[in-house]
Amino acid sequence: MNCSHCGGVLIPGKSSYSTSEDHFTFILEDIPAYQCERCKKVLFTDETVDKIQKLVRKIKKDSGEIVNNKMSTNLYEY
Ligand SMILES: [Zn+2]
Repeated sequence: MNCSHCGGVLIPGKSSYSTSEDHFTFILEDIPAYQCERCKKVLFTDETVDKIQKLVRKIKKDSGEIVNNKMSTNLYEY
């Protein structure tokens, strides 16, 4: 497997992914990833990217419901 950016050799390792949205900051650490030996670009597999995107979409949707108070009206004490 070679870097799609520069054709350099990809070294397996770990990396992290972070994104900031309106109501949250999502950081996932220790994700298996590849880093290009030449340009230092970090690449994730398609499956990893897919899973992360699904996770972020879910957090975005659920956090939006919490923030916009679209939850049921039952009150609990925390
Ligand atoms: Zn590269």
